[in-house]
Formats: sequence, structure tokens, C-alpha cells
Amino acid sequence: MIRKTQTIVIGGGAIGICCALYLNQSGKKTALIERGEICSGSSHGNAGLIVPSHSIPMAAPGVITQGLRWMFNPESPFYIRPRLDREFLSWLWKFRGACSEANVNRALPVLSKLNVLSLELFDELAALAGVDFGYEKKGVLQIFKSRTAMDKGIEEARRLQQYGVDSQILEYSELAPFTGDMRTAGAGGLFYPGDAQLIPDRFVHQLARHVGNNGVDLLTSTEVLGFEISGRHVTTVRTTRGDIDVEEIILAGGSWSADLARELNIKLWIEPAKGYSVTFKRPSSCPSLPVIMEDARVVLTPMGDMMRFAGTLELAGFDMSINKRRLQAILNAVSDYFPDFSPNDLELLEIWRGLRPCSPDGLPYLGRPRRYDNVIIATGHGMKGISLAPVTGKLVAQLAAGEQPQIDLNILSIERFLPR
Ligand SMILES: Cc1cc2nc3c(=O)[nH]c(=O)nc-3n(C[C@H](O)[C@H](O)[C@H](O)COP(=O)(O)OP(=O)(O)OC[C@H]3O[C@@H](n4cnc5c(N)ncnc54)[C@H](O)[C@@H]3O)c2cc1C
Repeated sequence: MIRKTQTIVIGGGAIGICCALYLNQSGKKTALIERGEICSGSSHGNAGLIVPSHSIPMAAPGVITQGLRWMFNPESPFYIRPRLDREFLSWLWKFRGACSEANVNRALPVLSKLNVLSLELFDELAALAGVDFGYEKKGVLQIFKSRTAMDKGIEEARRLQQYGVDSQILEYSELAPFTGDMRTAGAGGLFYPGDAQLIPDRFVHQLARHVGNNGVDLLTSTEVLGFEISGRHVTTVRTTRGDIDVEEIILAGGSWSADLARELNIKLWIEPAKGYSVTFKRPSSCPSLPVIMEDARVVLTPMGDMMRFAGTLELAGFDMSINKRRLQAILNAVSDYFPDFSPNDLELLEIWRGLRPCSPDGLPYLGRPRRYDNVIIATGHGMKGISLAPVTGKLVAQLAAGEQPQIDLNILSIERFLPR
């Protein structure tokens, strides 16, 4: 066990690993602490989409109404478990407040910029020697069953176009070449040629190996318990394997970041949003690019010799149980959109659930909290943590080096929900 280092990153998911990579590249002696194995949180079994097309935040007009409508449907893709928990109610209140046109207007420019920068960095990461994480830039297809959903999709696509996100509207007859000639029940679709994909656990593991080979200490099965603080500095990180003296810490603990922040007397509003994925061996007939079944909020991602279906957003706290009805609803949606697919005929590889770390306004927390000179927080990426991992790591390294970050981080401030 090391006893002293320059920088400690807490969290071995996509965000933590990318922070470690860019800190290491900038010459900082870095250690990463992960309480489980590398990539054992939300970064493991997600859909693996890199999606500038998803630059509209989750907190948008209509989301609350839709959520209430879905509350009593046990197979719906979005569910809020009612509970009298002060923290949760406070988060929900802020989320409700953020579901506005004004929030979309302020979030969209920054999310699209972050996405563009991240995509450029993915190109560089994919070119690193000995690194292969199934990165493909074939675009993403969104298909719609109802005309209403399609019209809403087209409206969003037009809005995204103003931020440089290209798209193509597809009528039903034009879908087949995109779905590998598989029959679909979609009424039409949208093709986003600038989107990309990867195999998420391979991405994190390969970068972990890369940084490990380049001098980063990867301390797994090591849990951070707390900190020693002196004035405006965190001096020591207390872990289950002993104390480590440190010059700077980066907090990238995903959904658990609020607990870690509490140890630093920092208030972070983060709600875990559970999602599921089911991974099968890739069948001979399979779309060659990711397909989002928009009305059902289910994603199909072909990943090397695997095929993954992912979906559902449950605000049910840290409950990690698998709701079989919602899981089945994901599979039903696939058969519904692709009548030739029968999940029963596929070879199952893994059923997984993960907790997306969600802020109330759909924007990450990224920056230095006011009360410390040597702490950086990088979390709350919600549904976009894979897409935004490289740019987050890069911005963290710029902050740690005392450089002006590439983009203005004010909107992502840690204190943005505190009374002014
Ligand atoms: C079903 C589903 C589909 C998704 N699809 C996509 C997608 O297509 N594209 C996309 O961009 N995003 C997607 N996401 C979201 C994405 O998975 C997350 O935003 C991202 O993984 C968050 O990464 P992270 O590193 O912040 O958190 P995590 O991967 O959860 O990592 C946090 C780590 O911190 C560790 N940790 C916590 N507390 C401590 C402690 N005290 N000491 C030591 N270690 C600690 C945890 O063990 C964990 O490993 C999806 C999520 C789900 C659930």
C-alpha cells in the first residue's frame, strides 16, 4: 500500500479512469482507489453509446407529466418510487424545477460542446497503442412507433442541428438498410451519423491497463472511509487499507459521490437512477449499428460478438434488486419493434443493473468546490457518463494543473443548487 502520492482519484468507473489517464499524461503522480474491482459500478453493462445526439438534458419540459403517467404502469420505462425521504424529496423538487425550457436552453450549448470535445478525445484514445475497446463510428438510428413520438424526435433533431449535430429523417421504407434488412414495426426514424459506440467495460478495463502500465497505482478492493482536513486542504485520505497523504483529490464516485462529499461537508444532490441491460451472444441477423427504440426507451447495441438491450430509469434509491417485470418489458419492446427477434432463441450472457448518477438538472458536477483548494469533483453524469468521460478527464487535468479549462465550467458548479 502506498502512503503518500500527489493525486488520488476516487472511483474506478469510466469517469475516474479517464481522470487518472489525463492527470497521468499531465505529469501528476496519480493513484486511483476503487472499493470493488475496476468498472464494477454503472460503467460496466450500459448501452455504450457516445451520443452528441443526446445533448438535451434529462430534465426537460414534459418529463414530470410523463413520469406521473407512467407511475402506475409496472412495465413502464420510467418509474419514481414514492418515498418519504428528505434527501430524495429535495432532489425531486429541484428536478421538477429544472424540467423547463430555460434549463434546456442553458444546458444544451454546454452539453453539445462537451460531447463534441469528448468525441475528438475518443478518436485519440482509440488510437493508443495496445488499446481496443470496440470503438465504432457508424452513427445511431432512432426508430419511432407513433407519429407523435416521431414528430417530437424531429423537433429535437432540428434543435440539435443548431449545435452542429447532423441528422437524417427516415421514412419507414428507408429503415431497412440501417437495420440489416430486419423487419421493424417502426413508423419511421432518425439517423444520427455523428454518434458512435464502444464496449463500455472493455473501454474502462483497457484504459485501466494502459494507465497502470504508465505509472498510475490502481488500488482496488480499497474503500475510502473519510478524510483528514486542515483548513482549506484535504491532507489525508482514510481507506480500509490505511491512510494516504495526498496533495489533491478527485472525487469520481458515481452515484456514491454524495456520501463521499458529505465526509467533506459538501452537499451534492445526486440520485441513483437504476437501469437494466440484457446481453446475448450476437445472432447472425442483427442490426449493424445501435438502434434506439424511442417510444419504449430501449436501446439495442451490437457490441463485437455480443448484442445488448438496455433501458429503464427507476428512481428507487440504492435498491439494487432486479424488477423482473421491467426487465421483461425491455425484451418485449425488442420483439415488438423487431418482430423477427425472439429473445427466447438467443444465448443469454448477462443480466445487469446499474445506477446512473443523476443531478437534478441533467448536468454533471465538474469543478472545484468553493471550500477547498485541493479537491475536484467530477460526477453526476446521469445518462451520459460514457459519452462525456474523456472530456471530463481532460478538464479535470486542466483544473489540477492550474490551467484555464477549455470550456467555462460555471454552469457545472458544485454549488449551483445552494442558495446564493
Ligand atoms: C442501463 C444503462 C444504460 C446506459 N447507457 C449509457 C450510454 O449508452 N451512454 C452513456 O454515455 N452513458 C450511459 N449510461 C450512464 C453511464 O453508465 C454512467 O453515466 C457512467 O457509467 C457513470 O460513470 P462513473 O464513473 O461516474 O460511475 P461508476 O461507473 O458507477 O463508478 C463509480 C465507482 O466509484 C466507486 N466508489 C464509490 N464509493 C467509493 C468509495 N467510498 N471508495 C472507493 N470507491 C468507491 C464505485 O465502486 C464505482 O466503481 C447508462 C447507464 C445505465 C444504467
